[in-house]
Amino acid sequence: MQTKMLTSSREDIQEAGTLLRQGGLVAIPTETVYGLAANALMGEAVARIFEAKGRPQDNPLIVHIAAFEDIQPLVSEIPGQARALAEAFWPGPLTMVLPKSGQIPRETSGGLATVGIRFPSHPVAAAVIRAAGTPLAAPSANLSGSPSPTTARHVKQDLWGRIDAIVDGGSCQVGVESTVITLAEGTPKLLRPGGITLEQLESVLGKVEVDHAVLHRLEDGAKASSPGMKYKHYAPKARVILVKGAGYVEYVNSHAGKGVAALCYQEDGPLLHIPYVSFGAADDDSSQAQKLFDALRRLDEEGAAVVYARCPHTDGMGMAVYNRLIRAAGFEVLSID
Ligand code: AMP
Ligand code: MG
Repeated sequence: MQTKMLTSSREDIQEAGTLLRQGGLVAIPTETVYGLAANALMGEAVARIFEAKGRPQDNPLIVHIAAFEDIQPLVSEIPGQARALAEAFWPGPLTMVLPKSGQIPRETSGGLATVGIRFPSHPVAAAVIRAAGTPLAAPSANLSGSPSPTTARHVKQDLWGRIDAIVDGGSCQVGVESTVITLAEGTPKLLRPGGITLEQLESVLGKVEVDHAVLHRLEDGAKASSPGMKYKHYAPKARVILVKGAGYVEYVNSHAGKGVAALCYQEDGPLLHIPYVSFGAADDDSSQAQKLFDALRRLDEEGAAVVYARCPHTDGMGMAVYNRLIRAAGFEVLSID
């Protein structure tokens, strides 16, 4: 299949909308990461997303809308908590899981009775949804298992020749996927940390439960609250080891060797004697989120075989960064003090 590069010009956005209406696949920029979009209400179009990404079919997709009212036909009820969260954080990087209506095909919801909905704030994403005239199902636009794409170049690396078009809208601002919260089970529960922090959610809802699998490996045989928790994620080709403890720089310097590299804070770089890629400043978790996926891809491009990664803190946006890094490391954590 030929993949067409599009810009964010008015004509190109109309073309993306036409492709999507006809059942095509178009990668689009959002404020979180690039999404691979298809008409969320057309089962055959959505099935092609799973094929292009190599995504397991039981892993549901998030449905993207361009106005709060668009949620109405997609869900069977809108709880007060959903209205309050939308008021506070939409448009923005928050996905709410709600009981689905009959309009959502089985392919989109991965066979579940619920559906995740998001109203993105990126102007190009909103314009493409409006041009398509339909809600768009859009998982991250990468091959399943690899780091999520935060530039059009990353999408090209993974999906060139497998999708109809890529809309280039520059680098994504948040850099990690949306926060996912379920409101379908009584107590609100955080299923995936992202651009909206736990602290922000609690400021609106009061206590929010955090699913155990957000910060820990899903135990063998345990049922996942969110199907995505079961699968390998964000993994570069290199083996990543997450190093926890104050002596990170000394530890890494004493483990130099062929193919060994560091994934570190910006401030660590000049102190290291081995090749490194940095992912933001120590005290700036937003910049860490923004740079993380690009840094993981760059380590592969530079041929790293073993990567010692600096363990971030887990509050604020740090929770989202830690959640991605620990999966990139396949839960291999080394405590050094
Ligand atoms: P991605 O599309 O790659 O951003 O991944 C979407 C994430 O949201 C996956 O981890 C899914 O498991 C989760 N998700 C989407 N819809 C639901 C749902 N209805 N219930 C629980 N988790 C969901
Ligand atoms: Mg993904």
